[in-house]
Amino acid sequence: MTLQLKFVESVPEIMEEGVLYVSITYCTVMHLCVCGCGNEVVTRISPADWQLKFDGKSISLNPSIGNWNFDCRSHYWIVNNQVRYAENWSDEKVARGRARERERKGKFYSVEAPKKNEPVIIEQLKPKSRSKLERLKSFFNF
Ligand SMILES: [Zn+2]
Repeated sequence: MTLQLKFVESVPEIMEEGVLYVSITYCTVMHLCVCGCGNEVVTRISPADWQLKFDGKSISLNPSIGNWNFDCRSHYWIVNNQVRYAENWSDEKVARGRARERERKGKFYSVEAPKKNEPVIIEQLKPKSRSKLERLKSFFNF
């Protein structure tokens, strides 16, 4: 399954199925769960959350997306706009994954956050970068 890529400024009013909405301004990627359940999946882009790779045509998200809070419990990767289904985790595995995640984030915020190499988020939230996005939009005619 291939998803369509759309760069947006903010959260769209109505999200369409099969579309990846990327907001650089808010460091967020949004889409409707690919299983068709209609749940909105919001992934925050940050060094401690998801990483976004944009190759000029398609995006990839890392790590995988595990919708454990939805009834469908779908679990998939987004690689070059393609949905790659992953195994369905047991509750136990989800709990272990969350514990790992907390540990990882704890490390990040206590050790890495003050480092100088992480100004990306702050800069992207400034209005200045919004006009940069606007310029990119008009350039690529999105
Ligand atoms: Zn679903």
